[in-house]
Amino acid sequence: MQKKASLYLLLLLIVPVILYGIFQISSLSEDEENINLIYQNQLDAILFSVNQYSDDVVNEWVMSLEEAITADNPDQELNSLLEVNPGIRMMFITDSVTGKADRIFPDSLSEDPLVSVVNGVLWERGRDIQNLRTYATAGYQKIESAQLESGEDLRTLMLYFVLKDKPGNSKRVGGILIDPESFIQVNLGPRLQTIAEERFVITAFRKEQEQAVFSTSDSVQADGNEESMAITKDFWLLPDYYLGIDAAGESVFDIIRARTLLNIGLLVVMLLILAAGLYLIFRNVRKELRLAQNKSEFVSNVSHELRTPLALISMFAETLEMGRVKNEEKKQEYYQIIHKETNRLTGIVNKILTFSQMDANRKEFHLHDADLNEIVCEIMDTYSFHFSQKGFESDLKKKEHILPVKADREAMQEVLINLLDNAIKYSGDAKKIEVLTGTKDKYAFVRVRDFGLGIRKEDQKQIFEKFYRVSTGDIAKSKGTGLGLSLVKHIIDNHGGRVEVDSSLGKGSDFTIYLPLIQTENV
Ligand code: ADP
Repeated sequence: MQKKASLYLLLLLIVPVILYGIFQISSLSEDEENINLIYQNQLDAILFSVNQYSDDVVNEWVMSLEEAITADNPDQELNSLLEVNPGIRMMFITDSVTGKADRIFPDSLSEDPLVSVVNGVLWERGRDIQNLRTYATAGYQKIESAQLESGEDLRTLMLYFVLKDKPGNSKRVGGILIDPESFIQVNLGPRLQTIAEERFVITAFRKEQEQAVFSTSDSVQADGNEESMAITKDFWLLPDYYLGIDAAGESVFDIIRARTLLNIGLLVVMLLILAAGLYLIFRNVRKELRLAQNKSEFVSNVSHELRTPLALISMFAETLEMGRVKNEEKKQEYYQIIHKETNRLTGIVNKILTFSQMDANRKEFHLHDADLNEIVCEIMDTYSFHFSQKGFESDLKKKEHILPVKADREAMQEVLINLLDNAIKYSGDAKKIEVLTGTKDKYAFVRVRDFGLGIRKEDQKQIFEKFYRVSTGDIAKSKGTGLGLSLVKHIIDNHGGRVEVDSSLGKGSDFTIYLPLIQTENV
């Protein structure tokens, strides 16, 4: 019953703690995922802004082209644009009737074979151009790109669009031929550096070769590859290139991971500490419960113990008082009984008093040099009459020389009396008691051995607790307070010694007390 209650208590305390721990650990990894998602989104947004910026650059060029062709001297205007932008190889506008590249900037390239390549592509993309015109009518200027395959030159990309021209000329197409890598390095490079600062590495790769064409970090430039990037995105304008971004140094992901692991570790440690704390509480509660139970049994035991001698004293005193006993011998016998029972009462009351003193830590011990052998002999002498009266055979085997110890004589006598009383009480029919003194290591010992009922292993741990009495078997039948052995232990602890019990059920018990020897030449 008590065990069950303790178990429920333990479960009640430990289950919520464990559940909380599990919840924390799982929500930690969830947090990790969320943070990672936010991080990925942020990286995504950065690459988006790079694409946006590329669009802005090209849009500005388109506007410059549109403005230039309406100006007085378009060549001059555009030449300065071409000069500062090595990424632009050529610009052109088509004729609204033929649809072929008609005006070429710089003018010097008018006869370049590139022009016919451009015209070829424009012809091929007739349908797309038609779509661009539809968009333009709706007010949306879309920019398309086409890779130019002009002999040895594989790196020219044509960006084409419908010009926002005067209403009558709205069918003209404009184009900008760029070198994508130079565009990335010269036009986007500074911007990428600004965005990346020290916190990110942004790299542009050429698709087929998986090779970095530009990076904000020198180390990536040399051996850059896609795997080293947290995320990658295509360039909107440059179909053969893509962008990658990663954190400079330790990535947020790594930091989160390390942090999460640390958190989980700390949580596990906390859980362990909590579990240990709960276990201690559980143990204490169990002990308190047992003590409360023992205490209530103690009250009934003591009442019982007191009632018997009181009843006897009262009965024999009354008989004597009434003068009914004429026989002198009988009278003597009754006096003896009254005397014996009074002694027993005094014994019990003394035991309780000593106990209450010790329990309140008020009992003082006066340790003096003493010979353990002598104390034992003295008590055995006093008890020899007692033994023979009860039909006990006693045997004292003592070490021949003295056993010098520091002891409170009275207290040590009480210890021995308790052990001998118990031996008598729990001997059953095996009426034999052996007492042995000796030395072991740096201790003097005295052992009280009986051949009686013995104590079960599981009870042996508890018999030294206050109020504890074995409540099963024959032992339960004899009377007692459950204080004797707790007194013994308390006294011996205060002497710097220890008590050991060795017992098996039905065979008898050995109680041995050890006291530290004082070092003298005699030992
Ligand atoms: P009690 O007043 O009950 O004897 P103790 O504290 O002296 O109280 O002993 C506690 C319990 O230990 C006893 O109730 C008994 O069950 C057990 N015990 C003590 N000494 C012996 C012994 N020599 N043989 C068997 N059981 C013993």
